[in-house]
Amino acid sequence: MDNKNISRREALRAMMLAGAGLAAGSTLATSPLAAKSFLSQDWKPTEPAESDKVIHRDWPSLGSSISLLGMGCMRFPRKGGATGRNAPLDQEAVNTMIDYALQHGINYFDTAPAYGDSERATGEALSRHPRESYMIATKMSNFRNSDLGACKKMFSTSLKNLRTKYVDYFLLHSIDSVSDFRKRFVDNGLLPYLQGLRKKGTIRHLGFSFHGSNAALKELIEMPYNWEFVQIQMNYVDWKHMPLDDSDEPCDSETLYRMLEAKHIPVVIMEPIRGGALANVSKGLENKLAERFPMLSPAGVALTFAASFPGVMCTLSGMSNMKQLTENVYTFSHFQPFGPKDNDYLMEMAKLYNSNPHIPCTGCRYCMPCPRKVDIPGVFAVYNGASDALMLPDPSNKKDRQFKAKRKVFLKRYATLAEGTDASACVQCRACLSKCPQKIRIPAQMEMIQKLVKDLG
Ligand code: SF4
Ligand code: SF4
Repeated sequence: MDNKNISRREALRAMMLAGAGLAAGSTLATSPLAAKSFLSQDWKPTEPAESDKVIHRDWPSLGSSISLLGMGCMRFPRKGGATGRNAPLDQEAVNTMIDYALQHGINYFDTAPAYGDSERATGEALSRHPRESYMIATKMSNFRNSDLGACKKMFSTSLKNLRTKYVDYFLLHSIDSVSDFRKRFVDNGLLPYLQGLRKKGTIRHLGFSFHGSNAALKELIEMPYNWEFVQIQMNYVDWKHMPLDDSDEPCDSETLYRMLEAKHIPVVIMEPIRGGALANVSKGLENKLAERFPMLSPAGVALTFAASFPGVMCTLSGMSNMKQLTENVYTFSHFQPFGPKDNDYLMEMAKLYNSNPHIPCTGCRYCMPCPRKVDIPGVFAVYNGASDALMLPDPSNKKDRQFKAKRKVFLKRYATLAEGTDASACVQCRACLSKCPQKIRIPAQMEMIQKLVKDLG
């Protein structure tokens, strides 16, 4: 956070903490005088105290006490600040982040073979600590090859990379339909193999991550596989309706969560900040959030919404730097669950968010690499970013007084994409289509954005 540019929300937060004396044990201001110093350059608004620990919940069915904030290990920093999936991870920075996370009570670390070099980097960082001080969640990312032999090899490589003899939480990765589940996990004989590993203790708990319709989840959790936990996408924007671009089947976080809660299956939350989108909302929405939740950043609001539901075992946040980590630790070490009125308010905020067009890309990069080098998440980030900034031009409404300004801003942002990686490079080959867990019709969206750019002249 830029201390030179303290926002009203942060000022309010300091005043409230000071006035209410809520900051005991933290580095935050505790008196009106101290609140003044909050506005000084030295004050770090989201820096937790060394002694601050994130909240845990006990799960008797799993025999574990799990931090309500989990570290998603998919977006670790890369050397030199590079963003490409193949750019090497910055191991030193990963070690620093994991050390800090453990020190502040985070004990759940979520990775996958599909996250590039993440398992190896996570294993290297975690193995410097006692094995019983952390829990590893990893996955069977058998998207390209679901042959039993290849799956067994993937699992043993995971153990090796993670420098462990057992996995605490093992997930069948990103199931999107019952047929997908049968094809990748049942018909190939994989599930009995994994259940055997669970019996031996090599896998402590078995579950799956899910990106599909309400009906598909219902069918999956009725099956006799003793699912011990399930990971779903949940945030306040997707609570009432989660857009699945390629399907008309109903899907919403609320129904998914309620079904799991009713069956007493602990729920792990992914995308609580929608791939970072809910951390960078429009100024108008940010102000509205600050009116009701002055002590939380937009990301803090999104995380608190998801974590407040009692059936939630862990809320994953894919953190890329210390700023995000310290802010999240602050949120979860000062955790105050939201009530029904807060949630009602957030449903109104979701309507506000959805009043601007968005492509529901979470930046997961599963669709990459594109054979024609299109920077798919980058193109969508430019589009969504312009929309959030209320700077998305509409060529059919050139009478809009702001049209020229919007056009200029949008095209300037669009020009930041590396040469040859914008939507015009898309040849509609559809190679990306089946890889997107958000079911975005990527080729169609590329066509739409390319047309927009063309119409803007
Ligand atoms: S459809 Fe377009 S974006 Fe998708 S893989 Fe093909 S060229 Fe790349
Ligand atoms: S388009 Fe889909 S697969 Fe690609 S980064 Fe976005 S959400 Fe992930």
